Amino acid sequence: MRPDRQGLAYRDERAGERDRHGVLWARVGQAPGSGRPDYRVMHPVRQRQAMLERRCQVCSGPADRNAKGWLFAVRRPEAAEDMPGWPEGLLCTKPPVCRPCARLAARHCPYLGEPVYVRARKPRVWGVFGGIFDPHLAPGPDDYLPYGHPAAPFFLANQLVVELTRTTREPAP
Ligand SMILES: [Zn+2]
Repeated sequence: MRPDRQGLAYRDERAGERDRHGVLWARVGQAPGSGRPDYRVMHPVRQRQAMLERRCQVCSGPADRNAKGWLFAVRRPEAAEDMPGWPEGLLCTKPPVCRPCARLAARHCPYLGEPVYVRARKPRVWGVFGGIFDPHLAPGPDDYLPYGHPAAPFFLANQLVVELTRTTREPAP
């Protein structure tokens, strides 16, 4: 808690630990290339960088883009066909992919399953995913928070959220 009790802070906060909206980000060690993949979670710093720079979430090279937009591999929702307009406006924490990695991810990631491939012409930065640490509230599960929300000073982010807009679906690459 900050000394003025108006939000969270690190005691030894460093430049770059808040994003340009002032939201504090979770600290994680940096050791690219070492260890084994943990498919349940994404590294916060690398996830954010991949989202902002439209890099492939697997190899960090440029994400695939054509006239219909950037390529995203998203988890198939329950009964997608019944949701009118899906995936327009989908809130997404998974950065785009390049074509070779789209196939690789579908083969190896146990959480992706048989993904839906979506092109988004305008992926719009929407907010953050993480947890609220408010002394007046019981801690809850991690959740989405839009930028500009009054709870932002008490939020510890671990993923950047983009809204997929001007979307089209396409067959597996
Ligand atoms: Zn790739």
